[in-house]
Amino acid sequence: MNFHDYDLIIVGAGFFGATVAERAANQLGKRVLIIDRRSHIGGNAYSENDRQTGIEVHKYGAHLFHTPNRTVWDYLSRFTRFTDYRHRVFTSYRNQVFAMPINLGTICQFFGRQFSPDEARALIAAQAAELEGRVPRNLEEKAISLIGRPLYEAFIRGYTAKQWQTDPRDLPESIITRLPVRYNFDNRYFNDPYEGLPVDGYTAIFKRMLDNPLIDVQLATDYFAVRQAIPSDKTVVYTGPIDRYFDYRAGELKWRTIDFQEEVLPVGDFQGTAVMNYADEDVPYTRILEFRHFNPERDYPADRTVIVREYSRFATRADEPYYPVDTLEDRRTYLAYRKLAEEETGVIFGGRLGTYRYLDMHQAIGAALKSFETEVSPRLIGAER
Ligand code: FAD
Repeated sequence: MNFHDYDLIIVGAGFFGATVAERAANQLGKRVLIIDRRSHIGGNAYSENDRQTGIEVHKYGAHLFHTPNRTVWDYLSRFTRFTDYRHRVFTSYRNQVFAMPINLGTICQFFGRQFSPDEARALIAAQAAELEGRVPRNLEEKAISLIGRPLYEAFIRGYTAKQWQTDPRDLPESIITRLPVRYNFDNRYFNDPYEGLPVDGYTAIFKRMLDNPLIDVQLATDYFAVRQAIPSDKTVVYTGPIDRYFDYRAGELKWRTIDFQEEVLPVGDFQGTAVMNYADEDVPYTRILEFRHFNPERDYPADRTVIVREYSRFATRADEPYYPVDTLEDRRTYLAYRKLAEEETGVIFGGRLGTYRYLDMHQAIGAALKSFETEVSPRLIGAER
C-alpha cells in the first residue's frame, strides 16, 4: 500500500465513504484509496446471503431504504434498482399484536371498540391532559403528555426500558420530542415518497459504487495502524469515531449497541412479517427480525427461515457503536471534538461516527454528496494548482 499513489484516502467503506470515493473517481478522475478495518465493504449497511438458506441477512440490523430526497434517490438508483417493498412494523404486547406506529387501527384494537378519527383524537387528548400544567421532568411524563398513560404503558414503557436499560422515569425527557399517532388506518412505517429495498441486495450497491480502476479498497486495515505512513499533504476523509481520532482527549462519547442472536429455524415462516417489536418488559429482546419477508419476490426455501433477536445495551469501547446516547454532556464533548476537527487541516470528518449523529442511509449519502461538493472537491482541485 503506497499512499503516495493516491489523491484521496478515505477511512470507512460505509455509505459516506463509498459516496465520496465514487464521486472523486467518477466525477474528478482522482485516485482513491478506501480502507476499512472490517473484512467487508458496506459499513453497517452490509448484508450477505445466509449459507444454509440463501436468505439475505442485514448483518448490522434491519436496513430499510427510504428518503424524501429526490437527489439521493436518483443518485443511488445509478447503482441499484429498488423493489416495491413497503415497511410495516408490528408490536407484540401481552400476547396480542398491534400495528405501529400507533394509528386508528391500534387505538380501536387496544381500547376494544370502533372510534372515528375525531373520537380517537378527543380520547388521546383527554388522556394526555393527565399531567397538564406540569413541565415534564422525565421521559415517562413527556410520553404521557403526548399520548396519555394507557398507550404509553403498553407500547412505550417496556420497550424504552429495554432499549436504554433504564427506567423511563430516570431518562431525560429530551430523548423524545414527538410520538407519532395517526388518526387513520395507514400503517406504513415511513411517510417518505421514495422507499424500497435493493433488488440485488445492499452489498451489490457498494461493489458497483466502488467499481472503478481509480478506486482501491484495502480491507481489514485499521487507520490507526497505518496513519503514520500517510503523507501529511494527503487529503483524508475520516468516517470512524471522532473521539478515537483524537485519542479520547476530550472524553468518551457514549453509544448504545445491539447484540444480534441469529438462528436458522426449520419452518417456512416464523412470524409472518419482517419486524415484530416486543413491548413487554419481561421479554428480554426488543424485537425479532425475519429476513425472508424483506424480499418476498425472491425464491427462498419454503422450509427454513432466518431470524435475529435484538438485545439493546450500552456500548463499551470494544463494542460496535450504533446509536448515540446523546446526553447534554455528550453534546458538550462532541463540540470540543468539533473544534479540534476544524483545526485538523487536511482531514474531513463525516458519517455517523465522525459527526456523532444517528444518520439514516439517505442522510449519510446526502451529507457525503454535500461534503464532496463543498469540502473534498475544492481541496482536490486546489491541490492540482
Ligand atoms: P458506517 O456504515 O458505520 O461506516 C463507517 C465505516 O468506518 C465502518 O465500516 C467502520 O468499520 C469503518 N471504520 C471505523 N473506524 C475505522 C478505523 N479506525 N479504520 C478503518 N475503518 C474504520 N438507516 C436507514 O436508512 N434505514 C434503516 O433501516 C437503518 N437501520 C439501522 C439499524 C441499525 C441497528 C443501525 C445501527 C443503523 C441503521 N441505519 C439505518 C443507519 C445506517 O446504518 C447508517 O446511515 C449508515 O451506516 C451510515 O453510513 P456511514 O458511512 O456514516 O457509517
